[in-house]
Amino acid sequence: MIKSNHEDELNVFPLDSAAKDAEDISLDQNLRPVSLSEYVGQESVKKNLGIVMQAAKQRGEVLEHLLFYGPPGLGKTTMAFIIAREMGVGIKVTSGPAVERAGDLASLLTNLSPGDVLFIDEIHRLNKVVEEVLYPAMEDFALDIVLGKGPGARSIRMDLPKFTLIGATTRAGLISSPLRDRFGATYRLEYYTPEELQKIILRSSGILKAKINKDAALELAKRSRFTPRIANRLLKRARDFAQVGGHATITKTVVDEALKLLEVDELGLDKNDRRILDALIYKFNGAAVGLTTLAAATGEEEDTITDVHEPFLIRLGLIIRTPKGRQATETAYKHLGAVPPAPTLQNTLL
Ligand code: ADP
Repeated sequence: MIKSNHEDELNVFPLDSAAKDAEDISLDQNLRPVSLSEYVGQESVKKNLGIVMQAAKQRGEVLEHLLFYGPPGLGKTTMAFIIAREMGVGIKVTSGPAVERAGDLASLLTNLSPGDVLFIDEIHRLNKVVEEVLYPAMEDFALDIVLGKGPGARSIRMDLPKFTLIGATTRAGLISSPLRDRFGATYRLEYYTPEELQKIILRSSGILKAKINKDAALELAKRSRFTPRIANRLLKRARDFAQVGGHATITKTVVDEALKLLEVDELGLDKNDRRILDALIYKFNGAAVGLTTLAAATGEEEDTITDVHEPFLIRLGLIIRTPKGRQATETAYKHLGAVPPAPTLQNTLL
């Protein structure tokens, strides 16, 4: 199995973002649903995938290449593992930044067994040279190898086993169109509803052998940024809190106390989200702010702002994106207890 490069992600994302930290990696593995029927929510994606997989099985063909996109922690990797399992094939896992040279990709591809899934996380971060090797591999199941240099160079074509490429990305917009066009289907994963997350939390608490009340699970769900990875992470924290405090069951009070300690507020905002709102409202006096400036002002990575914080804050109606940059809405002012400025900055979404 190829190293999945999670170590690199540790350096890219802060621990309280929706991205993975070291603890999440083992948590993810324990709590990951293994079949489509266990996979909560994403109903239309599941329905479509079910048909695509059944049709491929009936025809005895290899499943077409699939692309999943959506914010971190929504279940893209989980889905790739489920697909491989349901198709009865092996899976190899890597990520865009881990495949540095064309040779890395060639060795990955030549080591696949027929029908295998190659999962490339953060596929938008593949470099151009590697991406070009991928085109004939995806289209014709072939590798074009150039032998020699200069005028005497010649190219030979090597056949590969038929395989399914599953790509995952937080930013579909950053994928070049030649690559995007080579996927048979693209699926966008949506944020989860509190009820769906409550289900996930109840399932996870069973696996973790942590007793939790239904209302406590719903409260955790509501404060989980619409994201299963966060829901599982907060559940684990609430379990620790209950255990240390001598509570046999995770109650709503335990959840409230645990989340207070974690500085996760009633909307699920963490301190990094609040730092962003704070900068927009106080440092920039409500003006529209470009990404680079906002990143510098908050000490956040630009990617983390665009992948993790922004979609969530937009979803909550706390910021809007204007042609000039990000701007806090009236709801954001109210949430931070600030006085909204003149009506020119009225939230157009309200
Ligand atoms: P992504 O690849 O999109 O970052 P993952 O597939 O790693 O997200 O999902 C993170 C964790 O969240 C998984 O390990 C799993 O425990 C949980 N999870 C994600 N989606 C679901 C779901 N639909 N149902 C149940 N648990 C889920």
